[in-house]
Amino acid sequence: MTTKHSEHIYPVFDRMLQRSDKEKLLKQRAKVIWMTGLSGSGKTTIALGFERLLYNKGFLTQVLDGDNIRSGINSNLGFTEEDRAENIRRIAEISKLFVNCGVITINCFVSPTIAIRENAKQIIGEQDFVEVFVNTPLEICEQRDVKGLYKKARAGEIKNFTGIDAPFEAPVNPDIEIKTENKTIEESVQELADKILPLIQI
Ligand code: ADP
Repeated sequence: MTTKHSEHIYPVFDRMLQRSDKEKLLKQRAKVIWMTGLSGSGKTTIALGFERLLYNKGFLTQVLDGDNIRSGINSNLGFTEEDRAENIRRIAEISKLFVNCGVITINCFVSPTIAIRENAKQIIGEQDFVEVFVNTPLEICEQRDVKGLYKKARAGEIKNFTGIDAPFEAPVNPDIEIKTENKTIEESVQELADKILPLIQI
C-alpha cells in the first residue's frame, strides 16, 4: 500500500516559527544595542559589564565586536572608507539574524560616520535599533590608549585611525549617551542598564 507524503504533513508545522515565538520562549524583547564611540571610549568594557548584568537577570545576549567579527567573517576587510562601510553592512545583517532569533545583540564598533550608522539602522530596522553614544573625549581615549593604537597612529604606523587621521562624526541625536569621563565602569554600566531594561522586558 502506498502512502501519500501529504498525509504526513501536520498543519501545525507548516508555519516557520516567528520572532515573537522566540521572544516568548526567552521572555525578552530583542533589540540591537549599537555602541558607537572612539577607540578606547569604553564600548567593549561597558558592553561586557552590561552583558553580565543581563545574564544575571536571565536575558540572552550576544556581543559582537572586532574580536569575533574582524577575525572571522570580515577578515578580508581593512579600514578604507569602502571596507568600513562593508564591515558595518555585514555586522548589521548578522545583528538582524540574532534579533530575529529573539537575542539582545550588543555591538561594539567605532562606526565613525553618520552615514554608516544610518545604513546599519536601515538594515536592522528603526524600531530594533538603539544607538548608544559612548562619549569620551579624544584626549582621554588617547591617555588610556588601551591597545597602544593611538601611539602607533601618531607615529604614522597606522593609517586612517579614527580621531587622528580619519574623522569621527558624533551622533546628532543618539537614543542614549554615556559620558565615561569621571565615572566608574560600574556607573556607566548601570546607566546603560537603567535605560535599556524597560525596552527589553516583556
Ligand atoms: P573601546 O571598546 O571603546 O575601544 P575599551 O572598552 O576597550 O574601549 O577601553 C576603555 C578603557 O577605558 C578601559 O581600559 C576601561 O577600563 C577604561 N574606563 C575608565 N572608565 C570607564 C568607564 N566609566 N566606562 C568604560 N570604560 C572606562
